[in-house]
Amino acid sequence: MIEQLTGRIALVTGGGRGIGRATAIALAAEGADVAVTARSSDQLEETAGEIRRLGRRAEVLVCDVTHREDIDAVLAKLRASLGDPSILVNNAGIAAGAKLADTTDELGDRSMAGNVTGAFYWTRATMPLMLKAGWGRVINIASIAAKAAAPYMVAYAASKHALLGLTRAVASEVATKGVTVNAICPGYVDTPMTEGSIENIHARTGRSPEEARKILEGFSPQARLMTSDEIASLVAFLCTDKARGINGQGIVLDGGGLQA
Ligand code: NDP
Repeated sequence: MIEQLTGRIALVTGGGRGIGRATAIALAAEGADVAVTARSSDQLEETAGEIRRLGRRAEVLVCDVTHREDIDAVLAKLRASLGDPSILVNNAGIAAGAKLADTTDELGDRSMAGNVTGAFYWTRATMPLMLKAGWGRVINIASIAAKAAAPYMVAYAASKHALLGLTRAVASEVATKGVTVNAICPGYVDTPMTEGSIENIHARTGRSPEEARKILEGFSPQARLMTSDEIASLVAFLCTDKARGINGQGIVLDGGGLQA
């Protein structure tokens, strides 16, 4: 296989587990050197170990993507170690289900910060480097909740819709500069986040974890959870030159449930 991202430097937020970890490894398998961020270091070190086993350079950057005051120092560390990133995957995010009346200020603010403001900060911080290089890729891991909504997801849907708006606006701004900006909108993916959702259904309804999992699988016409590797493969493709015409999109990956 020809590696298509050799010489590229990628930054994957939330790279410790789930979709972020799979994405970091997929980009490394395509030849990129990869930095991963999260708030805790143990899982990041494991991801970095996998990247190095693939023969690529890795950097662990412990930070909270919502802390604007840390970004300059974290980015400077990345530039000094791996070089200037030209691929940014805004993957870090949180999911907390609640209906409107139960959505506290704290939950609303935390959801917006974790799911869109962090992506905004990091896109704004790294974009000048991509524009200077005349090549760049920003991929935002949104959700089907960026395009549709259901009960018990006020803060999540609002924040993911905002992330898609950010994606579209920045994509149109940089379209002539060799940079593309896209979002991926997965349905339920088999990750620790979804394990949390299963636990919540179990706790709230008394259904068994197996029944709760079946409910989530039922959201896809394929009657299954998507896998992190499927999302990661699409990220890797969007980073190639073959995908340079795909810009400003919110690509649904849910087995065919949301046809928008
Ligand atoms: P996980 O909860 O399994 O992993 C999230 C990762 O993000 C962890 O590494 C976590 O590490 C990190 N993270 C969370 N908040 C922050 C923060 N503020 N700053 C830095 N790192 C952070 O999530 P998934 O892999 O399931 O989801 C990844 C993305 O995909 C999210 O944006 C999610 O909304 C989206 N998505 C997920 C779906 C699913 O079904 N799982 C479906 C659709 C979209 P740490 O806690 O150490 O900081």
